[in-house]
Amino acid sequence: MAYDYDLFVIGAGSGGVRASRIAAGHGARVGICEDYRVGGTCVIRGCVPKKLLVYGSKFAHEFEDAPAYGWSTGPVTHSWATLRDNVQKEVDRLNGTYVRLLESAGVRLQMGRGRLLDRHTVEVGGETFTTDKILVATGGRPEIPPVPGHQFAITSNEAFHLPDPLPRRIAIIGGGYIAVEFAGIFNGLGCEVDLVLRRDRVLRGFDEECRTVVHEALAQGGIRMRTETQIARIEATEGKPPFRLHTQSGGMFETDLVMYATGRVANTAGIGLEKAGVQLDKAGAVAVDEWSRSTAENIWAVGDVTDRINLTPVAIMEGHCFADSVFGKKPRKPDHRNVPSAVFCQPELATVGLTEEEATRTLGELRVFTAAFRPMKYTVSGRQQRTFMKLIVEAATDKVVGVHMVGDDAAELIQGLAVAVKAGATKAQFDATVGIHPTAGEEFVTMRSARAEPAPRQAAAE
Ligand code: NDP
Repeated sequence: MAYDYDLFVIGAGSGGVRASRIAAGHGARVGICEDYRVGGTCVIRGCVPKKLLVYGSKFAHEFEDAPAYGWSTGPVTHSWATLRDNVQKEVDRLNGTYVRLLESAGVRLQMGRGRLLDRHTVEVGGETFTTDKILVATGGRPEIPPVPGHQFAITSNEAFHLPDPLPRRIAIIGGGYIAVEFAGIFNGLGCEVDLVLRRDRVLRGFDEECRTVVHEALAQGGIRMRTETQIARIEATEGKPPFRLHTQSGGMFETDLVMYATGRVANTAGIGLEKAGVQLDKAGAVAVDEWSRSTAENIWAVGDVTDRINLTPVAIMEGHCFADSVFGKKPRKPDHRNVPSAVFCQPELATVGLTEEEATRTLGELRVFTAAFRPMKYTVSGRQQRTFMKLIVEAATDKVVGVHMVGDDAAELIQGLAVAVKAGATKAQFDATVGIHPTAGEEFVTMRSARAEPAPRQAAAE
């Protein structure tokens, strides 16, 4: 039977766009649909605008440090409207670039929400198309728990478009990537930030010692850390600020904006997946095998909608592998081992490989190397911010199985070291590498003595 398309992709985010372009490059007739804006979460309301806001907020530290280097800065003010609008201009530019990339690859873009009518038929905005194969790349969305008054809260989606001026006080609920990143952004931009955590520390799942360093640095940077605090209800008079946040333990505090960052869920509802025989996992994400194939034979899924590792470069890898395997006669599976990642809080945290806790659980004897120091830049300015680095080495093989860093430029550094970890580098090879002086990074090749005792906070690990 002749179909309209060889491949139809639902969702033009990072994974969907990469898969469609590569498949078209292999000669497939490809269509793609998108119901919001081409580029997806990362480009439109995630990584890219977030990182630009991080840059914007970090100028606050530069102005504070500048006088010690001889600069007179005078009174410093900030315009949220300027930052917000300039960031959106860049988002618009990238959105246009993504549309052009699809066009030049010969992928037919159909704006509108895609819905599967059966395994080979997709409906978009009232039009139907037939297709041999389907890729679901619909991503995820923030979810707010149903506490009374939750309708007063925003998520990261709205945070990029806040009216000017920013509220004086912001409460962020959650302690994951998004919560700590936005806490740093709003703190840098001069808001009073309350970070509300249901447990004792931020960033569960990261190396325990690094979590502690980040947690303490956020507090020292001026963010009010409300630990072991659960919100019972949010009250507001006529839906307007100030908002009163009542906690489960009977406390109450006020704020002018409530932002929830308590996790994201896969976008699997209302797109006809059940009709096509696509099964979901317990969390509502598309269940896929190691080739990203769903339970329906001609339907695959990549990116956050599969809830594997929810990061843009991982979605891109999965989309590329899918297209090469299915249309390029180059079968390859996405490799989810040693995926580096970074949290752009301030100071930032970046990591590749195993945490000390994971390595302790899964490997034999370890050698753990750490370094904590005040970065050179702050010796002159007096800023009380320290850098922390950690190498985890499997004693039996001498392989470096985990590298972690909290501090300026951690993400840039760890990206390079991720190549070494992926290549299976040993501690001896790290030691044989000459440092670049003076840098923070040279510490990673000059750590000589393994720590004798376990990390102080390891006992507190959940
Ligand atoms: P995360 O899953 O990272 O964190 C969710 C946070 O919310 C946790 O601290 C969790 O607490 C807390 N939480 C969950 N439910 C509740 C609740 N009912 N009440 C109070 N707190 C709650 O989610 P995010 O939304 O921050 O990010 C989603 C994903 O997006 C990330 O996993 C990541 O993959 C991706 N991302 C990546 C970025 C990057 O690479 N830099 C940036 C932003 C997002 P606890 O852990 O204590 O249970």
